[in-house]
Amino acid sequence: MTHPENEPILEYGPGSPEREALQEELSRQSSEVVEIPCIINGEPVFTGDTTTQVMPHDHGHVLATVHLAGEAEVRAACEAAVAAQESWIAMGLEARSQIFLRAADLLAGDWRMRVNAATMLNQSKTAFQAEIDAACELIDFWRFNVHYASEFHDQLQPLVSPEGFVNTTEIRPLEGFVLAITPFNFTSIAGNLPTAPTLMGGTAVWKPSRNSYHSNYVLMQLLMEAGMPPGVVNFVPGNPRMIVDTCLENRDFAGVHFTGSTRVFQGLWGKIAEALPRLRSYPRIVGETGGKDFVVAHPDCDRRGLLIALLRGSFEYQGQKCSAASRAYIPESVWEGIKGEFVEEIQKITMGDPRDFTNFVTAVIDQKAFDKISGYIRAAEEDPLCDVVVGGGCDDSKGWFIEPTVIQTSDPKAPSMVEEIFGPVLTVYVYEDHDFEDVLQLCDESSPYALTGAIFANDEADIQTAYNALRFTAGNFYINDKPTGAAVAQQPFGGARASGTNDKAGGPLNMLRWIIPRSVKRTLEPPHDWGYPFMDE
Ligand code: NAD
Repeated sequence: MTHPENEPILEYGPGSPEREALQEELSRQSSEVVEIPCIINGEPVFTGDTTTQVMPHDHGHVLATVHLAGEAEVRAACEAAVAAQESWIAMGLEARSQIFLRAADLLAGDWRMRVNAATMLNQSKTAFQAEIDAACELIDFWRFNVHYASEFHDQLQPLVSPEGFVNTTEIRPLEGFVLAITPFNFTSIAGNLPTAPTLMGGTAVWKPSRNSYHSNYVLMQLLMEAGMPPGVVNFVPGNPRMIVDTCLENRDFAGVHFTGSTRVFQGLWGKIAEALPRLRSYPRIVGETGGKDFVVAHPDCDRRGLLIALLRGSFEYQGQKCSAASRAYIPESVWEGIKGEFVEEIQKITMGDPRDFTNFVTAVIDQKAFDKISGYIRAAEEDPLCDVVVGGGCDDSKGWFIEPTVIQTSDPKAPSMVEEIFGPVLTVYVYEDHDFEDVLQLCDESSPYALTGAIFANDEADIQTAYNALRFTAGNFYINDKPTGAAVAQQPFGGARASGTNDKAGGPLNMLRWIIPRSVKRTLEPPHDWGYPFMDE
């Protein structure tokens, strides 16, 4: 069966029709305040308990008023999801797939600028970062998930049906609803987490991040426009703890599809374990969590390639990608050769409002992130083993802006070398050229995470040494490339250790988590005698 192609990325160059259309949409969305309800059983619910959604790069600008779900709404969302499942299953995979393919086509067409503009304003992304996330990656998730689902449907059929018997496997969805808890940083992930289980016939309660209600609500509207029946996906902004507790009261809680921080996921796992005696099934727990993504350079490597990978890998989207390069191990000779040029290039980076297309870096997501990231930078400034070699400036007066920052340290276990900062901060540990193999071990053992990582080396033997030494250090491993930018159907994404369950979004393995197959044996001629030949005399 032929497979879909990755959605082509629009470039938004000066004078291009897409740039004009996007700018028009940005102006339109910037001049209105949207009222966002919960969506339960296909109906908007305005609870009156509201919060606002602002632009991170201009935090005085309110984009939306959001109605938060209370316990009653969450209970209703769970019940709607359970009630919707029977007819959703009865529709069959083919008809369900058509809805997601329609959603992908809408996003590739008329809805593209709406979703991209909402992502730029709500999560402070540049046009390019919004395009590769909110448009292309989500289109790819929907199209390729449909493809994978149809393929493994056939592959999971039993190999053998002896004469007189017909063996089949029914691909059942999880029995009950999945709670999708989504992060702020990728609109595509927010769209994928509730919909991957629903494609398989499950239903979902979707708890979006408090920092992406605006763009996520546009997606919810798109899904309804594509024909998603009421109750299949229920959109409930609100207090995460309350939502989790309320969902776990329902015995039909069948799983969680989570992306976010390690700490939250570990807490969630514990709560699910405690709820087990009340639940009908053992829930599927799928979570992609934090990272402390590395770049290791060998003394013999492409230095300019390394420099560009560090710059893009660390600072695009302000380092707020789970895959962002945030620690680098650079040999002395290479660092001496590139440090000056690296600093010069970083000083050229323009920072500001994403509506000004000349900016490469925009704001970090909220005050909490700003305080956390600037705290790491201030601590490094005071640490005698660390030196802030470029950046370090932080200004939250209009938006939450933090300059791209590089810390050089002589302590490979410095906090900024091992803890997830989730901001535009790269820490560099400079090692002696002959210590390559020791540094690989250091890289493997220094941090609890194992999400993404990159090796820069020219010689195949050195690449193989790193490949083997870092086998369990990253779920997505890059050779002579930056550790960000995984594409659906090209590099299925996810890490193990403290980085998650490694269920590989953007590949068939993730879809397999949302099914509970039923094996069916049909006997064409049932035996009419209970004896066996060995009993014959
Ligand atoms: P977060 O953990 O703060 O929030 C993620 C989601 O969890 C949000 O919807 C949030 O409201 C919810 N949440 C918060 N507290 C909760 C609780 N007590 N119980 C249940 N849910 C709760 O993360 P974030 O700031 O939105 O995203 C950044 C994090 O996500 C980083 O750690 C990043 O590495 C990770 N991330 C990982 C991947 C991946 O594929 N591995 C992708 C994107 C982001």
